[in-house]
Amino acid sequence: MLYWDQKKECMPREQLEELQLKRLKETVSRVYSFVPAYKAKMDENGVNPKDIKSLADLKFLPFLTKQDFRDNYPFGLLAVPMRDIVRIQSSSGTTGKPTVTGYTRNDIENWAELMARGLTNAGATSDSVIQIAWGYGLFTGGLGGHYGAEKVGAAVLPASGGNTKRQVMLMHDYGVTMLGCTPSYALVLHEEFLRMGLERSDLRFKSGLFGAEPWSENMRKEIENKWEIDAYDVYGMTELVGPGVATECGCKNGLHIAEDHFIAEIIDPDTGEVLPEGSFGELVITSLTKEALPILRYRTRDLTTINREICSCGRTHARIRKILGRSDDMLIIRGVNVFPSMVESILLQIPGIEPQYQLIVERKNNLDRLEVQVEVSEKIFSDEVKKLEELENTISRELNSGLGIAVKVRLVEPQSITRSEGKAKRIIDKRTI
Ligand code: AMP
Ligand code: ZN
Repeated sequence: MLYWDQKKECMPREQLEELQLKRLKETVSRVYSFVPAYKAKMDENGVNPKDIKSLADLKFLPFLTKQDFRDNYPFGLLAVPMRDIVRIQSSSGTTGKPTVTGYTRNDIENWAELMARGLTNAGATSDSVIQIAWGYGLFTGGLGGHYGAEKVGAAVLPASGGNTKRQVMLMHDYGVTMLGCTPSYALVLHEEFLRMGLERSDLRFKSGLFGAEPWSENMRKEIENKWEIDAYDVYGMTELVGPGVATECGCKNGLHIAEDHFIAEIIDPDTGEVLPEGSFGELVITSLTKEALPILRYRTRDLTTINREICSCGRTHARIRKILGRSDDMLIIRGVNVFPSMVESILLQIPGIEPQYQLIVERKNNLDRLEVQVEVSEKIFSDEVKKLEELENTISRELNSGLGIAVKVRLVEPQSITRSEGKAKRIIDKRTI
């Protein structure tokens, strides 16, 4: 079992918690002194840096939300002057202004360290040839993966997203051993690989680190079987640093949160109450080492559970379960909560279904209707109509019983659902248009 930094990743919990408390106290006093928006929020909640005496006191601190980023756009949450900032990244939200973050030199160093851990977990060494096919630019994926892979000492191919044919050519010609991109793009690359008629035995491809969007356990199997690789999950977000906040180890049983850099809590998204160990809810993250833009109790909107048992890989850092989805991506259809990842998980158990699907929600006569469009393989699509109808019925039945609501299923031609080079668009909600 390979570790990037065994001492830090396998630190005994007691020692880890001591370190967390020390860093938490420093972070809280720093933001209180240097970020007026944090000071105002803390004063409003009647909490002072001196009140943080133990990790349990974290719950007295106010939450930070996306709205705080909007209210302080672009640089109001920075805790250091611009002369200490060496990088700015931002995330293109679907609505309004982007979410902006900044980094000091140390922040960049720590981020590279986090990604080096993740890539090492997924099998990277200095012998690896790593193709980074997340977008480079203001989006954190590309540069985050790049700096991590360089830190590991691998040979990095800064391919960025897009130009799919060239990506496959690079994988083939340059002996790429590892790939970093969104899980949906890993499948798009595989489709292109098949179209190009290349031989799998000519590739040195062994593993991939995939993230930036939710993907089910069945999607992992699909990627692993199609590419014949090991596929690992990496989680993060612009507000927190970018990818690398949590990454999977060889056990593929949850993503280790880098607990020497972050504290994770799970709350009830409706009441804000902290939930007991093992409960399902919204992930809230506090940063412990960020200098430029420290984060106290950020409501990520991502839904998961936390497990603090020591993993069989030996790492002591807590694990989050694969993210089910975002609370704002959750569709409420006739009172039932539906996540695209639940649909994906059910679909991929049915033979002949491609992992390309879209959820279309409409409101007719005041009633919400969910249509799931699913791509089928070329072979199935050329079958007789009766067989296609049977398949449609089977999928409907599986989705109805799995989700608990009536779903209309429409099989669509191979390649008819738009492919994405970054995050896949799974939902078309016509109710809000
Ligand atoms: P961005 O700031 O644009 O990188 O988007 C961050 C968001 O992408 C997170 O809050 C999650 O909703 C989603 N995300 C990133 N990585 C993962 C992952 N591994 N699994 C599920 N969702 C993810
Ligand atoms: Zn582990």
